[in-house]
Amino acid sequence: LSPALAVNGPQILPQSHHSIDEENSEPSFLDNIFWMAAPKKRRTIEVNRCRRRHPNKLIKVKYNIEPCPECGNMKLKHTLCGFCYEKVRKETAMIRKQISITEGGPLNTPAVESVVLYENETPSEADKDKRIVERNRKRPYWFNM
Ligand SMILES: [Zn+2]
Repeated sequence: LSPALAVNGPQILPQSHHSIDEENSEPSFLDNIFWMAAPKKRRTIEVNRCRRRHPNKLIKVKYNIEPCPECGNMKLKHTLCGFCYEKVRKETAMIRKQISITEGGPLNTPAVESVVLYENETPSEADKDKRIVERNRKRPYWFNM
């Protein structure tokens, strides 16, 4: 037995390679991967086809369709016709635009009811005190009072 040097303290001792790596190196890309669940067994094509073509997954035939009484396009029963709604929406947007041009924005809106008059229409007695918006086109047949 020969005498040996005894040293106490963690700073002087050479550290293991693993711990140095962990402290100094940048985080590995493997740390940031979220490991997804992966199938353990392959599913055969028959099983896959049975699942994909199951009656619950197929497109159903609709029987609640009828032609729109106004324009004739097909629409779902008990719903508004999209084509007719689009026409009304565009006409309403044009009326709003005309109002903003003539009156200068929404802040000048009078607190009275508005009446839209089309070509060859005159305001009636009931419309005396109301705001009158005149449109220089023929009244669409679907745009009622
Ligand atoms: Zn319609």
